[in-house]
Amino acid sequence: MQAPPIRILVVDDDPDALALVTRHLGSAGYDVLQATNGEEALHVLAEQGPPIVLADWMLPGMTGIELCYLIRSNEEFAFTYFIVLTANSDEDHLVEAFEAGVDDYIAKPYSARELLCRVRAGLRLFQLNHKLQGQNLGIHRHNAEMAISAYKLDEANSRLHYMATTDELTGLLNRREAMVRTKEAWSNAQRSGEPLACLMMDIDRFKKCNDTYGHAFGDLVLRETAAILKQAARKNEMVFRVGGEEFLILMPQTNEAQAAVGAERIRLAVQAHAIPWQEEPKFVTLSVGVAERGTNMSVADELLKAADTALYAAKEGGRNTVRLASALGEDAAILPKSTDSRLVDQTGTVSPTAKSQGLILIACHNREERHRYAEWLKQEGHRVVESTEASDLVHDTEQSKPDIIVLDDTFMTKDGMALIRQVNTRSCSHDPPIILLSDNRSDDDHATALEAGTDICLRRPLQERVFHLHVQAMLRFRRELRQSNAVRGEQTRALQLLQTLAQEIAAAQSLGDMLDTTCRTVAELTCSRRIAVLLPNAERTHLHMAKNFGFDEGSMSDFQVPIESSTTGRVFLGRQRVVRNSTRDALLCQNEPDYGLFPGTPNAIVALRSSDAVAGVLSIAGRQGAEPFSDLDLEYVDLIGNIAGAAIHDCLTRRALDQARDSIVVAMAKLAESRDNETGKHVERVTQYSLLLAKQLSTQERYRSHINSEFLANLERAVPLHDIGKVAIPDHILRKPAALTEQEQTAMQKHTEIGAETLHSVMAKGAAVGFLVMAEQIARFHHERFDGGGYPEKRSGEAIPLAARIVSVADVYDALTSKRAYKNALSHEKTIGHIVQGANSQFDPDVVTALQEYANEFAQMAKELADDADSPTGPITPQPSGIVAEGLKTPQFARAIRS
Ligand code: GH3
Ligand code: MG
Ligand code: MG
Repeated sequence: MQAPPIRILVVDDDPDALALVTRHLGSAGYDVLQATNGEEALHVLAEQGPPIVLADWMLPGMTGIELCYLIRSNEEFAFTYFIVLTANSDEDHLVEAFEAGVDDYIAKPYSARELLCRVRAGLRLFQLNHKLQGQNLGIHRHNAEMAISAYKLDEANSRLHYMATTDELTGLLNRREAMVRTKEAWSNAQRSGEPLACLMMDIDRFKKCNDTYGHAFGDLVLRETAAILKQAARKNEMVFRVGGEEFLILMPQTNEAQAAVGAERIRLAVQAHAIPWQEEPKFVTLSVGVAERGTNMSVADELLKAADTALYAAKEGGRNTVRLASALGEDAAILPKSTDSRLVDQTGTVSPTAKSQGLILIACHNREERHRYAEWLKQEGHRVVESTEASDLVHDTEQSKPDIIVLDDTFMTKDGMALIRQVNTRSCSHDPPIILLSDNRSDDDHATALEAGTDICLRRPLQERVFHLHVQAMLRFRRELRQSNAVRGEQTRALQLLQTLAQEIAAAQSLGDMLDTTCRTVAELTCSRRIAVLLPNAERTHLHMAKNFGFDEGSMSDFQVPIESSTTGRVFLGRQRVVRNSTRDALLCQNEPDYGLFPGTPNAIVALRSSDAVAGVLSIAGRQGAEPFSDLDLEYVDLIGNIAGAAIHDCLTRRALDQARDSIVVAMAKLAESRDNETGKHVERVTQYSLLLAKQLSTQERYRSHINSEFLANLERAVPLHDIGKVAIPDHILRKPAALTEQEQTAMQKHTEIGAETLHSVMAKGAAVGFLVMAEQIARFHHERFDGGGYPEKRSGEAIPLAARIVSVADVYDALTSKRAYKNALSHEKTIGHIVQGANSQFDPDVVTALQEYANEFAQMAKELADDADSPTGPITPQPSGIVAEGLKTPQFARAIRS
């Protein structure tokens, strides 16, 4: 197939020249595109993308050089070959052309041959560039493929590494890796001088597992055991499967005594683990050898060998037991011989070997032996119960509930194992460990005893120290187990209670139900008799009893404490709980107003808080057994505080909103009667100004706690109602376009009380919501003066509620900067000047300072909320003629300020 002809764009405004070039190129087989100016050329270029452009320098509008510059600044045309035709080929011209990006030039007049040669050269270059670009793309693609291959290789390598180091069945590190890591750990220990221990472990009678239940069961046992080991190992310990049913744990920074404790834990965990299998779960046991890197060892292998030897001794010693390499010569001691040795628990903290005393039941026929063991135990402070008849053993166990049973095998008749099983099942809730004393019984006998539920087999003749060590170890493990079970049980119970609380609160129909559930849960969780929930009143001056639990019927229902001056109030304001655990604390709180809540210690006061507010407080007293509050108790109480606090807060807010909605409807209905229709956006502006002032004040230490988000929210809703009393002022006064007579002023001033009374009557209907309380205060007092010269009550200073002091300034600022029927507007600056003059006399100086601080914000707000038809005089609006500062003294302004 023939290739399509190559396109060349020729740009020339001279039709003859254009036709000539077109003919030359056309006859050479090119497809010529034409343009008569730069703009047209750009269009053609964009649509058809010819590889070569041939442009005359001199074009109307955009020159050929400018056209080239534009083309070059577009990456898409980076390879377009640009030839300029020029009549002027002096050096300066040419430099200019090449700097703009032309590839070649042809001086006019030109010959057809030269033209074609240069075009062909350009074309060759273009094609070369094109090819290079394609190759570049290829290189990029190749690089990307290389990166993908490298990634895949990496992945394959890690997989290979995993396969090479990991045992497939258990997921543990394998024997090869064990050798590598042991050598590493050995070198590290050598370098740092820190101890290094290891446990070599082997599942007992594993072959029998396979033989009895099949290989699938054997595999399951291996996996389950591996999981226990992995879980038992600490972070820096490494667990390996080094043989069929052999495992190794490397324990860096651990000595033999510490390792022995870990080993015993593991042994007990394996022994206690039920392996799920068909109808009933199965159990296996583990023998463990413990060794520590010693000065007499020179290579890592020796450490493993020592542990292996100890393991062999454990097998020899009857299996399901732990042996230390260091104590191999000295009978079956599982713990180091030094009596003041220190043990390390699983958390890694060192604790002295606390000896625990227990109740031990000795079951032995031989009187002499029985007495000897009893004597040994009593000397160590244990209590001893003796059982002399096999037939009594179960009964004696149930009666005395011993911590350990020491069982002599001579005690056991033909079916001794049945006896052990019986003891185990009958006392299962109590489950005392059994130490079996036996003569040289065969391994199989031992195994049978262990399977029946014996915990340790000791050989006779018994050595006193060995016996004590075993008893001590068992008592300690038993105590720890009991403690951790108790803690776990307690935590589970607490979680269940908290969950129930959350559910019940979510389902509660009323606030009362919610508080009830809260009190009940706290009482149960903290084992306390007296619980109270206190909530703030509408004015937020007092906390009153909203619910109580465990107080004398009715005696506390009217109880309330001032927020400002009580511990309970401080918890409410500060969110920090107060806990008094000691009697000294009780004496200290005797004179407090909230003493009635907790006439004794321990007690605790906790804030019921949601994320952004405190709904109330929870007081807890009357602890069972006067037990001090533990950290865990307080954590639970805090959780309850959060769960209940958020719910109560939501409930109160919802309730307040409902009430507010109703009362607003009433107020708005009354407002609808208003005929004072000339003040435009007055209400909106005064509200915004008041908020600005309050926000500024809240940055000051004095007001910070008072002006919180709730104050601001109330203020925003209360300010619009400040003048609602005006609805009762007669038209001829309200709308009089001139100064008022004294009599008219008196009538006008009544709007404060009328407004306040209206709002008061709304609240009397039961909606004592914060903002209505504030609205009443504002309506009544926003014309009071700081010096006591205002109306209606001639209050002064801080006897005027803060909200009213704020609105007073905001109201006057707006009155002065707004045009009214009877007066012109005053400028922002003059208004501020006037208000500053009134600080301490008319206005609260703090509020005036706030205005000065936020002067710019006021001016901005005035502009934003200007009445549409009648713009107020903002800082940039010129001063209306005839109004000067003295003008403030005119009756018109006096009226604006006073009414
Ligand atoms: P001891 O208490 O003396 O350790 O006796 P034992 O039966 O546990 O020891 P022995 O060495 O006689 O038997 C180990 C058995 O473990 C033999 C072998 O068939 C089995 N075994 C080894 N690897 C696996 C495995 O991966 N899966 C299963 N199911 N069995 C295995
Ligand atoms: Mg084995
Ligand atoms: Mg007013």
